[in-house]
Amino acid sequence: MTLANGRHYLAIPGPSVMPDRVLQAMHRAAPNIYTGQLPDMVATIVPDLKAVAKTKHNVAMYICNGHGVWEAALVNTFSRGDRVLVLGTGRFGTGWGDMAQKLGIETQVVNFGDDTDVDLPTVASVLADDPDHLIKGILVTQVDTSTSVKNDVLGLREVLDAADHPALLLCDNIASLGCDEFHMDDWGVDVMIAASQKGLMTPPGMAFVYFNDRADAARETADLVTPYWDWRGRIEPDYFYEYFLGTAPTHHLYGLRTALDMIVHEEGVEAVWNRHKVLAEAIWAALEVWGQAGPVRANITEHEKRSHAVTLVNFGPGNGLKLREWMEKSYGVTLGIPLDNVDTPEDYLRIGHMGHVSAQMVLGVLAGLQAGMTALQIPHGPTGLEAAMKVIAEAA
Ligand SMILES: *Cc1c(COP(=O)(O)O)cnc(C)c1O
Repeated sequence: MTLANGRHYLAIPGPSVMPDRVLQAMHRAAPNIYTGQLPDMVATIVPDLKAVAKTKHNVAMYICNGHGVWEAALVNTFSRGDRVLVLGTGRFGTGWGDMAQKLGIETQVVNFGDDTDVDLPTVASVLADDPDHLIKGILVTQVDTSTSVKNDVLGLREVLDAADHPALLLCDNIASLGCDEFHMDDWGVDVMIAASQKGLMTPPGMAFVYFNDRADAARETADLVTPYWDWRGRIEPDYFYEYFLGTAPTHHLYGLRTALDMIVHEEGVEAVWNRHKVLAEAIWAALEVWGQAGPVRANITEHEKRSHAVTLVNFGPGNGLKLREWMEKSYGVTLGIPLDNVDTPEDYLRIGHMGHVSAQMVLGVLAGLQAGMTALQIPHGPTGLEAAMKVIAEAA
């Protein structure tokens, strides 16, 4: 029989769970896009977007998904023939580099593989081999959603500074903004990109390019910039329509306003990071115990290199696929598929734990996985769920 009827839970790494309040805020008639409530409200969204990223610099808003701001970030900063250093730690890091190459930017790719983070000494030696500063930018993901690794962004800034290298540091925080700790200004990040549908708890369709004055200086000479993707008009618009170069994403904006109220003004950004940290640790505790008597392994071994937003897990040969199907059909939870960077996708699944996620939701997923392993006769240490509950009990 199935026990999946009732409210379904989509626990994939984006789109994330949206608060009912966000959904309700969007349920309204079309607003006036010239004057009144909507334009007034958008002016209040900009400072709160900056607060989430811990920056005093600029943020340009776009109507697009994450891939759109990959392109926006690149075309505002580089010219055809410029070289960028692409630090690959999974499908998203290398994908951003592929896009740069298609735009006519020369890419120097260093791939660290699919189960570890960027190795800082390797980056230091690449920069030392570039005395003429041909490398104009470094592309990195804070969290690569395909492997669930978290890179040391502050460490990269320190490597750049130690080498006295002027390359811009560009960071993809699409999975991690509003989940993992991040300080754009204190960590010396020049360009950061994010999208609405992950930590920001809003439907897919809006995305953001944050940039500082160094990056804006690069914009002066960037010959790839095109009128629609130009970030200039979007940050200090003379008219409301310039924010989006056309009609504003009216309903997304109402949803985003409410999501930012919850993140910035109600829970607080630090508390949001901490909630994601504790929930991630609860997941890791369960995986650890399950793995003591079975094949279950988190893809990333070291805790400090793990994302707080998503976890890629190997459940043993064929078991990732079987468990995902069991969870969906029998239990009422949809988990994330692995992406094409893993060799044996049927062994893996991804748990999304980003956005509007609470302890009861995470424990519900873990209880389902443990029940599923029992039902499917996948060997596992029997007290994984208890270990997760202990993490929650100690933190709450
Ligand atoms: C989801 C994601 C993307 C792609 O975002 P889309 O909205 O699907 O285009 C890029 N980078 C990272 C790290 C992501 O998690």
